[in-house]
Parts: sequence; structure tokens; C-alpha cells
Amino acid sequence: MTCRTFMAPGRPVEKIIDENFTRLEKKDDKSNRWFWKCNHCTDAPPIEGRDGNLQGHLIDPLAVKCPNAPQDVRQQARNSAMGAEWSIGTLLAVKGVSSG
Ligand SMILES: [Zn+2]
Repeated sequence: MTCRTFMAPGRPVEKIIDENFTRLEKKDDKSNRWFWKCNHCTDAPPIEGRDGNLQGHLIDPLAVKCPNAPQDVRQQARNSAMGAEWSIGTLLAVKGVSSG
């Protein structure tokens, strides 16, 4: 056995996510992702925890997705998103804009 197993449970949950979302059930496929519920939205559907999705929910500039998020939370999410591996493509995907 030369193969060392790293039991890291994916990437560490970012503070912004930990503080603003509640983890629901694991996605029922091989994606190893989870569904999350926004703590600011009482009626929001579960959000898949893909890169940028959760931050995108908070960042939404028109506050359509998350009208209840405080302004400082939005700012934090924005900073968090910029620190992560984020691309404009992800942002567009989050906003539901398809290319082509
Ligand atoms: Zn929300």
C-alpha cells in the first residue's frame, strides 16, 4: 500500500456558507455535493452546493434570489467568491444566462 489516503471531506466549508446556509441532504449521484438551504430565505428551494452557487445566491445584485440577506453578508459573499476559483462563466451560469 503506497497509496496514502487523504480523508479530507472535500474542501473546507467556507465561513460564508457555514454562516448563511444549512446543509441538507447529499445529492443522490456521484457528484459528492450537498444541497443547502439559505438561512435568510424561508421559502427558498434547496441550492446545490456547486462552486459559486451559494455565494451567487447571496451576491445576486438585484437581490431577487435572496431579498433578506443583509448588505454586509452580500459583501462578504462577494469577497469570498473572488477569493475562490471563480470565473465569469460560473457567474453567468449562476444567473441562468446560457452562452451560444
Ligand atoms: Zn437566500
